[in-house]
Amino acid sequence: MTYDTIIIGGGPAAVAAGVYAARKQMKTLFVADQIGGQSIVSDGIANWIGDKLIPGAFLAQKLKEHLEEYKDDIELKVPARVENISKNDDGTFTVMIGEDSYETKTVILTTGGRHRKLNVPGEEEFNARGVAYCATCDAPFFRDKDVAVVGGGNSGLEAVVDLLPYAQKIYLLARRDELRGDPITQETVLGSEKVEVLYKTNTKEIAGEKMVNGLVYESLETGEEFTLDVNGVFVEIGSVPNSDLVEGIVDLNDHKEVVIDHKMCTTSCPGLFAAGDVTDATYKQNNVAVGDAIKAVLTAYEYVKKNS
Ligand SMILES: Cc1cc2nc3c(=O)[nH]c(=O)nc-3n(C[C@H](O)[C@H](O)[C@H](O)COP(=O)(O)OP(=O)(O)OC[C@H]3O[C@@H](n4cnc5c(N)ncnc54)[C@H](O)[C@@H]3O)c2cc1C
Repeated sequence: MTYDTIIIGGGPAAVAAGVYAARKQMKTLFVADQIGGQSIVSDGIANWIGDKLIPGAFLAQKLKEHLEEYKDDIELKVPARVENISKNDDGTFTVMIGEDSYETKTVILTTGGRHRKLNVPGEEEFNARGVAYCATCDAPFFRDKDVAVVGGGNSGLEAVVDLLPYAQKIYLLARRDELRGDPITQETVLGSEKVEVLYKTNTKEIAGEKMVNGLVYESLETGEEFTLDVNGVFVEIGSVPNSDLVEGIVDLNDHKEVVIDHKMCTTSCPGLFAAGDVTDATYKQNNVAVGDAIKAVLTAYEYVKKNS
C-alpha cells in the first residue's frame, strides 16, 4: 500500500497537518515520538489563539485529543520515530520506522527543533548536574542558589523569569550589548534586584567537581576572563532544526533549516513539504507552525490529486 502522505513530528504543526489530512480523507500515516511539541514544558502560553493562558502540558493534551478525534480516519503511530527517508525513482518516498518501511506519495516534515548547545568544556560532563536546558522544568532545584543563564533572547529572558521565585542571584550572559527578547519580559528581568546582566560576553567553560560550581566567561570587549561562582547554568541560546532526516534530499540553509516556499510550504524536493520550526520560517511560534502546516497539507493534497 502507498500512503498519500506521511506526517512526521508530534508538535502543533504535525497535529494541524493530521487534522487537515483526515478531513481531506488523505490516506495518512502520522508518526511522532510524542504529542505536544517544544512548548509542552512551558508554565503558561499566553499567545495560543483561543486560550488566554494555557500551560504547555494542557495544550499538548488538547492537541492529542483533537488528533485522536480522527483516529479512525488516519493511522497514528505514537510513540515511534522515523529513522530514514529516501526518495524513489518513481517520485514516491520510502520512510523507515525501525525495520519497517512505508511507501508514500508525499511527506509532511514537521520535526521541529531541539536545544542548541554551547559546546564548551564541562557542558556534557555536568549535563543534569547543574547544566540545564529547561528552566520551567528545573528552576525549583535551584532554590537559594546562584545561577547563570546564557542567552540574551526570549528563551534566556523567560528562563530568568522562571528562576526569579527560586534563585538567590541570577547572572544573565548576553553576547550583544543589548537584550533581544520581548520588551515586557525585559522589563520584568531588568526590574529585579536579583538579576545582573553581563553584556558582550562569551561563555568559555562550565566548571565543577561532582556538580557545577562555576562558569568561566570572557569579555568580548577586552578578552579578559572571569569566573562566576554559580551552582547552575541554564543554556538558552536557541534551537537547532531536526532536519537530519532530509539532509541530501532537500535544500537546507546555512542554519540547516529546510528552505521552503512560504506561500505553499513546498521544498526543493517535489512531494516533500515542510512546516514549523524545522523550516527557515522567520518566526518560530506555535501559531505560525500550525498555519504553515495547514498550507503544507493542503498543497500536498493538490499534489496527490494532480499526480494520481
Ligand atoms: C520553553 C519553550 C517555550 C515556548 N513558548 C512558546 C509560546 O509561549 N508561544 C509560542 O508561540 N511558541 C512558544 N515556543 C515555541 C514553540 O514551541 C515552537 O515554535 C513550536 O513548538 C514549533 O512547533 P513544531 O510542530 O514545528 O515543532 P516541535 O514543537 O519542535 O515538535 C516537533 C516534534 O517532532 C518530533 N520528532 C522529531 N523528529 C522526529 C522523528 N524522526 N520521528 C518522530 N517524531 C519526531 C519531536 O520529538 C517533537 O515532538 C516555545 C518553545 C520553548 C522551547
